[in-house]
Amino acid sequence: MFRYFQPNLYVDSVLDLTPQRLQQHALKSLLLDVDCTLKNYRSENISQEIALWLEMMKANEIGLCLLSNGHYERIRHFAEQVQLPFVAPAMKPLPFGCRTAIQTMNFNKKSTAIVGDQVFADLLAGKLAGLFTILVIPMSPKEEPWFTQMKRPLERMVLCPKRQNFS
Ligand SMILES: [Mg+2]
Repeated sequence: MFRYFQPNLYVDSVLDLTPQRLQQHALKSLLLDVDCTLKNYRSENISQEIALWLEMMKANEIGLCLLSNGHYERIRHFAEQVQLPFVAPAMKPLPFGCRTAIQTMNFNKKSTAIVGDQVFADLLAGKLAGLFTILVIPMSPKEEPWFTQMKRPLERMVLCPKRQNFS
């Protein structure tokens, strides 16, 4: 049963994802979680590194769409900053937000991955929507709200003790 919760790919950060690496998995588009995946939870801004990474992905024609459970206005403001389309609140782990994003962006489900830091939100939503799943290590776990911190021990339980990539 725990195997169900294993991501197809487990990386330290989105910065580990390159167009070449995505190509190896036949991926052409990404649904990107925002908090703790692209930026620290309490921060309004992204780091220079992440900004450059987003630009590099866009330049390589990787389709990008933000998919966040955050409030509409907050995510809209962030999306404007990084000039990306968004779906929020996405209500992950329900799969509907993924489907909305894929349809509006005209992405191909087979070549789309969800990228996020939470097993019981991002990963599960991706699995339920039938997508390739990429889990990253949360950027600022100590800043997370209590309801997210509560889920972390359970996440560690279902993830393999030794990190592996299932692809
Ligand atoms: Mg997150």
